[in-house]
Amino acid sequence: MRQTIQTFLPNLDLDRVSFHRAMPHLFSWLPHGGITLPHLWRSRRTRIYVARRYWRPASRGGLGLILHEALHAQQVQDCLLGWGWGPLRPFVILYLAAWAGNGFRYVGHPMEVDAYRFAGSAGSRFECWCDSGATSIPWDRLAGPHGEPLDDDELRRLREECSPASASSPGRERSAVVAHRDLAHSIPGWRGLESLLRRSLDLTAWAWLPALPAILVGACTVVLWGLFWGTVTAILWSGIVVVELVGGAVALFLRLLAGLVGKVGALLAG
Ligand SMILES: [Zn+2]
Repeated sequence: MRQTIQTFLPNLDLDRVSFHRAMPHLFSWLPHGGITLPHLWRSRRTRIYVARRYWRPASRGGLGLILHEALHAQQVQDCLLGWGWGPLRPFVILYLAAWAGNGFRYVGHPMEVDAYRFAGSAGSRFECWCDSGATSIPWDRLAGPHGEPLDDDELRRLREECSPASASSPGRERSAVVAHRDLAHSIPGWRGLESLLRRSLDLTAWAWLPALPAILVGACTVVLWGLFWGTVTAILWSGIVVVELVGGAVALFLRLLAGLVGKVGALLAG
């Protein structure tokens, strides 16, 4: 599985990604088979959770889901190189901002569109590659029990065809640029401001000076929008941490109580 992920996402640092065969309990109500979240407190670490019944890394669908989540892990690492503390990372802020910009809908979320274009649904590049390439390139060789590597030409072709970074320019740099652009695009009414800015920036010499207020307003709006969703992220995450800590404490208390009751019962019976 790791070899397959590394083949399709050569820029993903798998040493900073861990896999968990269950959904975190606060997210178990989600209809999705998996979720990618930054580590609760460590910087630059990402966790991929896949619901137990969907954990089938040896199957096309199961591997597609894992690759889809791995692409989100790549997005985490690509957003300003994944810097941040716990959940306070550009990826989470951008994800929430883009979700709001998409009318709080999952379908059409730009980061999900990127991920599904790559893997996770019947029409994704990975799934299409499985269907079309299964005869010419034996699947076993990519993820087989002995882990035989593909030859260089096949690897290069696969990376070109299937890497989401192949759309324009390679890897991290492209995603970082997209992160900033996506944050701006998620702002309500941004398109109008952007077209005004574009028209102004097309002008030569000093003619763009009158557009300076619009440029400043645009820059300030992006910063404030980012700060707002950063604050929302911090509040949400604080809530999650509190619930998990209280839940853990209650579980520990019940466990100790059960042990105590058991001992008292044994004493009385004796
Ligand atoms: Zn997704």
